Amino acid sequence: METEEFDLLVVGGGKAGKSLAMDLAAAGQRVAMVERGMIGGTCINVACIPTKTLVNSARLLALTRRAAEFGITVPGSPAIDLDRLRDRKQDVVGTMVAGQRKSFLASGMELVIGEARFTGPRTVVVTDDAGTRRTLSGTNVVVNTGMVPQVPDIDGLRAADPLTSTSILALAALPESIAILGGGYIGCEFASMLAIMGVKVTIIQRGPALLPREDADVSAAVTAALEADGVSVRLGAAAVSVARNNGTVAVSLADGTTVEAADILVAVGREPVTGALGLEAAGVELSAKGLVTVDEFLRTTAEGVWAAGDVAGSPQFTHASWNDYRILKANLAAGPGTQLRSTRDRLVPYCVFTTPELGRVGFSEEEARATGLEVRVARMPVSAIPRARTVGQLDGLWKAVVERGTDRILGVSLLGHESSEVIAVVQMAMLGGLAYQQLRDAVIAHPTMAEGLQLLFSDAFLEQ
Ligand SMILES: Cc1cc2nc3c(=O)[nH]c(=O)nc-3n(C[C@H](O)[C@H](O)[C@H](O)COP(=O)(O)OP(=O)(O)OC[C@H]3O[C@@H](n4cnc5c(N)ncnc54)[C@H](O)[C@@H]3O)c2cc1C
Repeated sequence: METEEFDLLVVGGGKAGKSLAMDLAAAGQRVAMVERGMIGGTCINVACIPTKTLVNSARLLALTRRAAEFGITVPGSPAIDLDRLRDRKQDVVGTMVAGQRKSFLASGMELVIGEARFTGPRTVVVTDDAGTRRTLSGTNVVVNTGMVPQVPDIDGLRAADPLTSTSILALAALPESIAILGGGYIGCEFASMLAIMGVKVTIIQRGPALLPREDADVSAAVTAALEADGVSVRLGAAAVSVARNNGTVAVSLADGTTVEAADILVAVGREPVTGALGLEAAGVELSAKGLVTVDEFLRTTAEGVWAAGDVAGSPQFTHASWNDYRILKANLAAGPGTQLRSTRDRLVPYCVFTTPELGRVGFSEEEARATGLEVRVARMPVSAIPRARTVGQLDGLWKAVVERGTDRILGVSLLGHESSEVIAVVQMAMLGGLAYQQLRDAVIAHPTMAEGLQLLFSDAFLEQ
């Protein structure tokens, strides 16, 4: 089989890879991108975009239930029409996928649909659905194959055919009840939206708290918000076996109790897509967890092979993968002796789209203290913010950590309405190296949620 040569070969069309492929192809390079089926990658097809579309509907439902409170009469009781919900989600996804395909082709890249497997240095064989094979090689190769849901080895779990974050998106009907294994951000987001939609949800979380990366008070506030929507939260609960019988799933826990539900969703983490990639043939080393080993410049252990996104161990967010693309683009263009761009010390915010939502950037209080920093902490109920009053969204807790002495903002955890938007304001202040007083004393438009930052950093809420 003849080998087709490219300047850049992208294996897996995730956020980093597709962005790089389009740019370099548009700049005149010979570029091939191999994608096994999801045009646009995980985010658009089965992750951020469809889930946040559904979260939006759940929130609208919650608000419509409160219509009378806002002076609006809605005849009858609002309910979910799952077919239309799915159609809308599919429409949002489909429009974005079609736009991506168009952009891919317009860039001049060669989009190769099929499964790639490395057979040698910087070389893959791609097999399409019809079994046709092509051999492609690149002067530079980028691995961006992402991650997929992990199903842990729990007795009976696989046989019980659990839902994953992917398969649940195609459900024909909402289950009457569901057990969610895992209390990380994916488990919490599904718990929140399903509970609002009327599903009886139980989260089974092995650790002592939901969202284990968060401070105990923030995680407790998220737990309380979920419970207020009817979610039952089982903490310190290890599932030891699962059985599906007569339309019921029974999850036996280590403490001898059982959680029963009509279905089960597994949300205990994601595993890198490297197992069948044949990376050893390309001289690319993997970590013990199966991630592609990269240095801070996203170089793998093989000359000319780079990796990006989830599979390279970057923070598991689309925006982190997008930043990897910028780093790769700079590093591929760097001439000899030029300083390469690094992933080190980048400030990566994230949001958890429960209702209310959590926006987080920088250190939590626990993380800051663990690094030995002397901190001052600000805590404020969201109900203190005028905008929260006008929109009737009073739930939540805002928290900030500043360094004692330097007044540097070390991080914030904002749980409340529109926190995913406000977080960018703090991130910019942190990137600009502002002292908290500069944010506190700036003129911020009223009445906005961002204005709440001025209160958060005021003497009323920031400890001395
Ligand atoms: C339910 C859920 C919700 C999420 N919500 C958010 C959110 O709100 N915000 C956020 O920032 N992040 C969110 N994430 C995380 C985010 O989706 C990922 O971090 C992001 O998609 C990772 O992108 P990536 O560039 O690593 O690659 P991916 O987008 O995962 O792309 C990898 C691509 O490689 C392809 N591929 C794999 N193997 C091969 C092969 N052998 N040959 C050819 N092609 C191959 C795959 O088909 C896939 O298209 C969510 C994830 C999940 C599961």
